[in-house]
Amino acid sequence: MKITKVDILHAHKVSLFGDRPVLCRIYTDEGIYGDGEAALGFGNISEAACGMIREMAPLIIGMNPMEHEVIWKKLYSTIFWARGGGPVVFGAISAIDIAIWDIKGKALNMPVYELLGGKCNDRLHAYASQLQNGYGSDRGPGKFPDEYARYTALAMEDGFDAVKLNFMVYDSLGRRRPVNDQTFSFGNAHLKLVKDRVAAVRKQLGPDGDIILENHCISDVQSAIQMGNAVKEYGIMYYEEPVTPRADLLRAVYEGCGIPVASGERIFSRGQYKEHFEKQSIQVIQPDLGTSGGFTEVKKICDMAELYEVGVQIHVCGSPLIASASIQLEAAIPSFTIHEYNVNTNTEGFIALTKYNPVPVRSYLEIPDLPGIGNEISEKAFTVSDVYTVE
Ligand code: MG
Repeated sequence: MKITKVDILHAHKVSLFGDRPVLCRIYTDEGIYGDGEAALGFGNISEAACGMIREMAPLIIGMNPMEHEVIWKKLYSTIFWARGGGPVVFGAISAIDIAIWDIKGKALNMPVYELLGGKCNDRLHAYASQLQNGYGSDRGPGKFPDEYARYTALAMEDGFDAVKLNFMVYDSLGRRRPVNDQTFSFGNAHLKLVKDRVAAVRKQLGPDGDIILENHCISDVQSAIQMGNAVKEYGIMYYEEPVTPRADLLRAVYEGCGIPVASGERIFSRGQYKEHFEKQSIQVIQPDLGTSGGFTEVKKICDMAELYEVGVQIHVCGSPLIASASIQLEAAIPSFTIHEYNVNTNTEGFIALTKYNPVPVRSYLEIPDLPGIGNEISEKAFTVSDVYTVE
């Protein structure tokens, strides 16, 4: 089998945040095609991701899509900027790699989870992610604790028993707090507000539900430790991106507050994860299948995590295509922790880009048995995107 053509789709805006998902379809001389996504739709980096896939596409024309290692190595060793990792190059490699695994699955009539070794998990526990911005049609930056409880209640109505919120990004007026929030600017008033928000969510969720903290790297080490200690009495599953993803900083937060730390959406490649495993700085890794090198690389990262007894939650923030691909990987890894269901991407624009939209039922996702990644780019996506063809 040979690769004959690549379509690169740069979707028009699909959300209020201006997301422009970057997708690709790889065609073969046997009539089988596969779809992939670079999970870099948020911000102008989508232009760069799109450009990088266009640069890589000519390199794979004529290659055998069954040889994922050969293709991965060619992309990694040919592109000047690939060494050392980074979201743009690794995002583009990811999109191509996911599409190739999709082709492999279709050619062998197997879901990708089977190609990866089989179903270690029959179904996936999922949490509703990013509820500080609301849920469903009730949207807007959360200000007071009762809004955080209300957004949680709406997710619970849809069956979720696990939630993730950024409790500290908005002030009491709903304005974003500055990045690199410093210890003393975090302040007692804001710290108390954060604590009250967490308490309100715990009360709404009941004693058994799971709460994940998300700080988006906004806090510095001291404020992250301060906040962790202030809220840990409410039973926190883990603490996501409390600080910039550097091993010494993350480990300081874990040692300072004792809450398991999660990070990974801004860590790319095995090379960058290596130090985190060796220094035991992360308790739950969150590699993104669409920015960390696709199935070929992220499966290896997950295997390393298992060795170090570190949990895995794949970071999911893109169209339903990348969610479907992530489900395939999560089904196949022994150290799977929980699946991220991002409520920000459950919008009409995102959903229109694909044939299926995997949504958890009572907080659980079933694993589809369709060949390949179990989803594909919709016909409509081609009409609401800038499409570039390389052949
Ligand atoms: Mg995050």
